[in-house]
Amino acid sequence: KLSKRLQYIMEQIPDGSTMADIGSDHAMLPVAAVQKGKVLSAIAGEVNPGPRDAAAKQVASAGLIDKISVRLGDGLNVIEPGEVDVITIAGMGGGLISSILEQGISKLQGVKMLVLQPNVGEDLVRRWLLDNRWILISEHIMEEDRKVYEILTAVPKNNGETLLSNDDVYKEYFLNNSKGSVKVDQDMMIRLGPWLLKGNNPIFIAKWMSELDKLDRVLKSLATSSLPSAEVKSEVITQEIRQIKEVLSCLQ
Ligand code: SAM
Repeated sequence: KLSKRLQYIMEQIPDGSTMADIGSDHAMLPVAAVQKGKVLSAIAGEVNPGPRDAAAKQVASAGLIDKISVRLGDGLNVIEPGEVDVITIAGMGGGLISSILEQGISKLQGVKMLVLQPNVGEDLVRRWLLDNRWILISEHIMEEDRKVYEILTAVPKNNGETLLSNDDVYKEYFLNNSKGSVKVDQDMMIRLGPWLLKGNNPIFIAKWMSELDKLDRVLKSLATSSLPSAEVKSEVITQEIRQIKEVLSCLQ
């Protein structure tokens, strides 16, 4: 059975699409998407032979070798330009996801949707999307097996399916707390997520409370460090903590 996380990713894909799942491991997502009739055909890309073999086995045992092509290769190298409508990349760090997109940028021509699920470093993915004019149309936060996941969906600027622009998505606004109003600027939205910030989900609040704890711990260890850079780093982190706390204080 598909995990809740992969199920949600699958639901983002428009019916009748063709998809490529990059870093597909056991090809659970493309197999389920074809079985459900969500996608007509799929590519399961893997850079490592072990997971590639696992994917090939899964596809064969589902009887889907004519619908799902399992390919060995790095990132978007496994697809030809124009071959798929939707690309999913899940279960990796945001740094790796953005470098896969950056290196494979020529393959994104004609792609109508990206569904990305970074395990960490979501801000790097948002930054890449913004810099490359992909419009973040939705964000979802969820918890499964005590892990928190964020799923980011983006469409190209010329897609026509959305009337949104990144200027709308990342437009600065103010929130109110007991002390006055707090500006939510583009950097804060890239860090926390523009839609998640507006969604006010308890999982989102809990995630950032725990991130604040982590930052506090970093700050404490910096206080005992004799490195010359420690002071500057502490200042940056103190500032970050203050800003995040300010925003959270308006959401709870
Ligand atoms: N996408 C699945 C999921 O979300 O459950 C599997 C995630 S698994 C943790 C990450 C997979 O990405 C591994 O199987 C790994 O081999 C693959 N991978 C890592 N870097 C890759 C790259 N540059 N290109 C293709 N696959 C990659």
